[in-house]
Amino acid sequence: MILVIDIVYFLTAAVFIIGLKQMSSPVTAHRGVVWAGIGMLVATLATFGAPDIELGSNINLWLIVVAIATGSAVAWISAKKVAMTDMPQMIAMYNGMGGGAAAAIAAVELVKLSSPETANLDHGLVVQVLAVLGAVIGSVSFSGSAVAFAKLQGLMKKTLRLPAHQLINIALFIAVCVTGYWVATGSPVSAEHLLWFFVLAVVLGVMVTLPIGGADMPVVISLFNALTGLAVAFEGFVLDNAAMIIAGTVVGSSGTLLTQLMAKAMNRPISNVLFSSFGSDGGAAAEEAIEGSMKEIQANDAAIMMAYASKVIIVPGYGMAVAQAQHKLKEMAELLEERGVTVKYAIHPVAGRMPGHMNVLLAEAGVDYDQIFDLDEINADFATADVALVIGANDVVNPVARSNPDSPIYGMPILNADKAMNTIVIKRGQGSGFSGIENHLFYADNTRMLYGDGQKAVAGLIAGIKQL
Ligand code: NDP
Repeated sequence: MILVIDIVYFLTAAVFIIGLKQMSSPVTAHRGVVWAGIGMLVATLATFGAPDIELGSNINLWLIVVAIATGSAVAWISAKKVAMTDMPQMIAMYNGMGGGAAAAIAAVELVKLSSPETANLDHGLVVQVLAVLGAVIGSVSFSGSAVAFAKLQGLMKKTLRLPAHQLINIALFIAVCVTGYWVATGSPVSAEHLLWFFVLAVVLGVMVTLPIGGADMPVVISLFNALTGLAVAFEGFVLDNAAMIIAGTVVGSSGTLLTQLMAKAMNRPISNVLFSSFGSDGGAAAEEAIEGSMKEIQANDAAIMMAYASKVIIVPGYGMAVAQAQHKLKEMAELLEERGVTVKYAIHPVAGRMPGHMNVLLAEAGVDYDQIFDLDEINADFATADVALVIGANDVVNPVARSNPDSPIYGMPILNADKAMNTIVIKRGQGSGFSGIENHLFYADNTRMLYGDGQKAVAGLIAGIKQL
């Protein structure tokens, strides 16, 4: 039986990897998710056949079945209902639950070591240490992801820093290490140490995430994702469960790669993301005085500007996703192309609220992949563009990232919309971007503001172009 289960686990690992590979392209991504889901289902069913599963009594079996059914129903309904723009919150929440589940497994194993009946079971020091490591990482990921969720959902301030925050975090880290050492080496484990250990690890996750703001959230979310994978893999060793080890390792390694890519896109080391805001006030005091004023343009005039251009570069951002303006944009681009205008789309790696957010929306609207360009490919092109049309993007075109070393987004590569001959910005009003800082691009001499909801504004442009 053990051999059969191991073979099933091995096959599910292969299915996870095939699924992951397919997720790397929008064309096959849906199939990849289905493959990975099937792998997870088979692995879960196989676990019921494991001879050492401690069902104890029928009550335990029913508890497990009811928990799985409830969790699946809640996840299914919430995933069906979630708006695309709220996806990062959902990812943060589910990611946190993964970390929490890994920490809970560790807690159960460690509690066994603290009870007089089971304390003498031979778990081995290595297993006890792995359980503790998984517990710390899972707890930090759990509470850190909860804070990330609250920030993305707008339930709390983007950056929140206590006096001497960095010192408190160092003290917390040391306290977690000390209590973790006691728990890892205790025989039997003291219940009091265990409680303190978990409380401190959860508080550490909260404290590390509180001050992170600016535009660094994407890096933090993918870092917690990687940590959750690692915690699950550690607990897989504790439970001697191959599927958990493999799935955890796949999530951990792919999450680490994604974290590196996101950090590279933001042009800052991960240590900088985690610790840089400790010393600043999040950039509020670092804002430079802005010269000039925002100059409005009407849809008809903007339409003329684009219709008589030879090259237009569209820069979509989070606001395009909120407005669901991608279909109208495609319609507008086709009208321009019929008039001989070259139209390209410029995508910033952290535009929107999740990696690949803009690509997914544009693909959904049927925009040709050949017209979509990454930052490195397109940035030089702006200098020869007649019009850069910025729709619902803000942080990713903020030139302050180049000019002000005190700014929280300083160093992040931006799309060079300000280098185009003319820039038209579609947004609803004076709202700031995710990082909460002013955008100098909106005040530039060659920038015109087309105020309104993204979809309605583009509809106005379409009407204007059609009249010409
Ligand atoms: P921003 O969040 O910087 O700006 C979005 C702009 O869209 C706002 O200024 C807002 O202005 C405007 N807007 C909102 N709704 C509408 C609407 N219905 N119609 C028209 N405009 C609208 O977006 P960017 O894409 O430029 O930058 C993404 C930011 O999010 C970065 O800071 C990034 O780090 C962060 N982030 C990214 C994640 C990722 O993985 N990609 C994850 C988490 C955070 P107004 O209110 O005036 O309309």
